[in-house]
Amino acid sequence: MSMTTHGGPGLPQERRLVTEIPGPRSRELFARKQAAVPPGIGTTLPVFITHAGGGVVVDADGNSLIDFGSGIAVTSVGNAAPRVVERVQRQVADFTHTCFMVTPYEAYVAVCEKLNELTPGDHEKRTFLVNSGAEAVENAVKVARHATGRQAVVVFDHGYHGRTLLTMTLTAKNMPYKHHFGPFAPEVYRVPLAYPFRWPSGPDKCAEEAAALAIDMINKQIGAENVAAVVIEPIAGEGGFIEPAKGFLPAILDYCRANGILFVADEVQTGFARTGDLFACEDEGIVPDIICTAKGIAGGLPLAAVTGRAEILDRVHVGGLGGTYGGNPLACEAALGVFETIEQEGLVERARHIGDVMLPRLRGFQERFPAIGDVRGRGAMTAIELVKPGTTEPDPALTLEITRRCHAEGLLVLTAGTYGNVLRFLPPLVMPDHLLEEGLSILDKSLV
Ligand SMILES: *Cc1c(COP(=O)(O)O)cnc(C)c1O
Repeated sequence: MSMTTHGGPGLPQERRLVTEIPGPRSRELFARKQAAVPPGIGTTLPVFITHAGGGVVVDADGNSLIDFGSGIAVTSVGNAAPRVVERVQRQVADFTHTCFMVTPYEAYVAVCEKLNELTPGDHEKRTFLVNSGAEAVENAVKVARHATGRQAVVVFDHGYHGRTLLTMTLTAKNMPYKHHFGPFAPEVYRVPLAYPFRWPSGPDKCAEEAAALAIDMINKQIGAENVAAVVIEPIAGEGGFIEPAKGFLPAILDYCRANGILFVADEVQTGFARTGDLFACEDEGIVPDIICTAKGIAGGLPLAAVTGRAEILDRVHVGGLGGTYGGNPLACEAALGVFETIEQEGLVERARHIGDVMLPRLRGFQERFPAIGDVRGRGAMTAIELVKPGTTEPDPALTLEITRRCHAEGLLVLTAGTYGNVLRFLPPLVMPDHLLEEGLSILDKSLV
């Protein structure tokens, strides 16, 4: 059993293995999971968590693991972060739900005000709240169609936008997200992404050629005047932490502006300080018309947001947007706690620091380990892409093997990538340096 009774940053910040991974108690619980939950709900690492905080997760057998996943970029402020816990505890005792559309409450408005202020661009904005990233992206498309009177939506190769009917349609990868789940939603069109490592003529011409190709496809196959929105992740997340070649996003944005197409940034994974900016769009000065956020927004409570130009969001008729739980008061209080934590603990700078520690180490590994074809990312969103040495042929088996070795040593890492050959690193931004270093050393040893 765990030696502490609470999670949060007070949890001993150490890797500690007291059983094999997974231990007997986790194996018992996993057997129950398999009997009660369908296998479609996968498991990256079958250890059952009892406490978490700072840079560690503690399991039911008392093992303390270094967390390079943050529950998929969610607990950026750490698990059970004090300002989140305090606000949620107060709120849960006051009231838990009214439905904001029935009788409103202040915290929802405060979250929207903050997002209007913090997201890129100083134009007048509006925000509304929903429950998940997918729901935010769906709503962005609804709003964009309504505002433009157009139907087509353009998405990109390697994109990931969720698992609902519309958002899995927007998602690029068949297995596991789309396989046997069709037919898909109509009026969704996919164009190339500027993926430097895999661009046929090399990384130098990637941005220019990919943008030209994408724009030509839109003009020829859809017609710009039929396109409501372009939906793009400023760094492709599930697709493999692909940072589009510099210049690609501005070129797509210019094309959108010139043709009355709305630019929708899906910052569900990249948002809230993760990449070393508050939002990844800031890196190239992109000001999206609509921005979707979720994951890192509320420390793990289910919350997502759609923020956009006032003149676009204000078009939708009364009652056209919303949902029973959207902007639940507990989740809103958690988000306010997250915003305070990012500001007061300097987590934007902290994310940059994590990138400054990790990227040189990962590049060092690449020199010694020829299966690392590419090292990339920004801030605390970094990755290595594994290939057959000297080629760009993906090596998903090696990726799984390295993941397995890291897990056995108590380092929680996640995979990603259209080809399943990317190891991605998303430590909580509050992770202490000694754990970051120890995690990198475990990764280093797992690469032999
Ligand atoms: C996770 C993710 C989504 C979907 O969010 P859910 O909360 O899982 O619905 C959408 N877009 C991106 C970029 C994501 O990473």
